[in-house]
Amino acid sequence: MSAAPDELREWFDREGLTRRLIEYSEPGEIVERICDPLIALGPGDNDFVHAPNPAACGWPGAPLFAMALDDYNVFLFRWLEAAVRLDLVRCAHCGKLILDGDDLPDPDTWDAIFIEKELVAWMLVHFDCKRWLAKKLKGMQPFDLSASLPPAIDLSALTPDETERPPDVGTLD
Ligand SMILES: [Zn+2]
Repeated sequence: MSAAPDELREWFDREGLTRRLIEYSEPGEIVERICDPLIALGPGDNDFVHAPNPAACGWPGAPLFAMALDDYNVFLFRWLEAAVRLDLVRCAHCGKLILDGDDLPDPDTWDAIFIEKELVAWMLVHFDCKRWLAKKLKGMQPFDLSASLPPAIDLSALTPDETERPPDVGTLD
């Protein structure tokens, strides 16, 4: 899984978000596999996509090289919000479609989660599904997953305020 263009890979490396695995295949042959951060668009091993480059989404905020992880979290949160409006995201635990709206009934309320373990990934999960997710993600190996290219999402219409406001991205612990 090495879909990240150089600039994005460099930035992920700088922030400690890439995972590397050395494999010995043939005698004397060493292969390094690199896994970039992922986004789970659903609960399955095949529901992962690569985390996108803000520039590819028309991000009107700070350029990647000037971003800290917090800034990238803002970008990713806006990206996920847009993906929800396009009906592209399902709960990382139960697989039900994540719904848009400020006033959702309790079973539909959800949270954005950032995992930084062996697996580095963003995902959306219902509040009620959250406690099941930690168990599922424990020890999950990014190298076992197959990730696709992220869907094209255009964020160029966001206001400066929306590109800077700290997002509400939680963790599991
Ligand atoms: Zn759920």
